[in-house]
Amino acid sequence: MLILPMAPIDPRTVILLAAVMSGLMALVLYSLKRNFPASIKGLSEWAGALLVLLLGALLVAGRGRLPDFLSTSISSFMLWSGLYLAYVGTQRFLGVPSRSLPWIVLITVALLAQIWFTSVAPSYHMRLIVTTVMMAGLSGAHAWLIFRRGSITSSRALAIGVLLFLFAAQIMRLVTSFSESFPADAEFFDPTAMQLVYITSFAFGALLFSISMVLMATDQLRIELQHLANHDSLTNALTRRHMDDACRAELERCRRHGRSMALLMMDLDNFKAVNDTYGHQAGDRVLIDFVTRIKALLREPDQLGRFGGEEFMALLPETSLEEAIHVAERIRELFAEASDKPHCTVSIGITTNQKDTDTVDTLLARADAALYRAKANGRNRVESA
Ligand code: GH3
Ligand code: MG
Ligand code: MG
Repeated sequence: MLILPMAPIDPRTVILLAAVMSGLMALVLYSLKRNFPASIKGLSEWAGALLVLLLGALLVAGRGRLPDFLSTSISSFMLWSGLYLAYVGTQRFLGVPSRSLPWIVLITVALLAQIWFTSVAPSYHMRLIVTTVMMAGLSGAHAWLIFRRGSITSSRALAIGVLLFLFAAQIMRLVTSFSESFPADAEFFDPTAMQLVYITSFAFGALLFSISMVLMATDQLRIELQHLANHDSLTNALTRRHMDDACRAELERCRRHGRSMALLMMDLDNFKAVNDTYGHQAGDRVLIDFVTRIKALLREPDQLGRFGGEEFMALLPETSLEEAIHVAERIRELFAEASDKPHCTVSIGITTNQKDTDTVDTLLARADAALYRAKANGRNRVESA
C-alpha cells in the first residue's frame, strides 16, 4: 500500500491563499457597491481595504525574496493601512463621523519605527512589538466601533467576534514573544507552531471578516427594503398593508388575552381647499406636519398609518373606548390649534373591538361610519361607534 507523506503546511502558501481570497471578496464587495442603493455606504472602502491587504499579503509572502524594506516595513504598513481603511469603511457604513488625523499620525510613526528596526537597528522582536500593537489596536478599535454603534445583528456579532479573535491572536503573539523560549534570532517564517497559528489565524480572520462585511451590507439592504415596504414615502407613516397586518395581529392578541384595542380613522377636513388655496406642495407639508405632530402625541406601542390621500388611521393597543376618545380629542385640538400651518382641522371616527367575531373589515367599517358621522355633524369632531 502506498502511503503519501503528509506535506507540512507552508506559511507562504497560507498567505498566498489568503491574498487570493481577499481579492475575490474585494470583487464581491465591489459588485455589491455597484448594485446596492447609494444609501448603503462604506462598501468601496471595504473593497479597497481588501485590495490593500492583498498587496500587503503578497509582500509578506515575498519575505526573503524581495528587498527587506518592501517585505517587512512596507508590507506591515499595507496591513495596517488595509485594517484602517476597513475601519473607515465601517465608520461610513454606520454613519459615524471619522477623525482620521490621529490614525494617520500613528500609522506614520509606526512605519518610521518599522523602517528604523529594519534598516538602522535591525531587530525582529522590536518589529514584532510594533506590528502586533498596531494590529491589536486597529482590530480592538474596530470591534469597539461596531459594538457601541447601533443594534447588534447576527452579522455585526460575527464581525465583532472575528475582530476580537484577531485582537486576541495579536496579544498572544506579543506576549509569547517575551517568553524564555522565544529564540533571539527568530524570523517571520520560522516553522514554529506559534508562527503558523498566527499566520493562519490572520488569513482566516481576514476571510471571515470580509464575509461579515458582505452580511452586514445585505442585512442593511433588507432593513432598508423593509422600511420602504412598510412606510409611506411622503409622510413616513406606516403603509396601509402594514396597518392591516398589525390590526389583524392585535385583534388576535385581544381575543386570546381578553384585551381591548382602539382604532382611529382620521380624515383632514376640506383638504381640497388647502390644496386649491395654497398649492399642492403646501398640502403635502400639511400631511407631513400632521403625521409628525400625531406621532409625538402617541405612545410607544401605538401605530400610525396612512390609509390613502389625506386619511390616516391609528391603532392603539390595550386602550379602552374612553381612553381612545381622550387621545382623539387631544389630536383634534392639537391639530386645530397649530397656527404655524395653513388652517386645517381633522375629523376622527373611533371604534374598539367588541365581539369575538370582529375582523379588521368590521372594525374599519365601524370606524369609517363614525368618521362619516363626524363629518356630517360639522367636521373638526370626534365620534365613536
Ligand atoms: P372632507 O372634509 O369631506 O374630507 O373634504 P376634503 O376636501 O378633505 O375631501 P376630498 O376627498 O374631496 O379631497 C381630498 C383631497 O386630498 C383631494 C386630493 O387632491 C387631496 N390629496 C390626496 N392625497 C394628497 C397628497 O398626497 N398630497 C396633497 N397635497 N393632496 C392630496
Ligand atoms: Mg378630507
Ligand atoms: Mg378623504
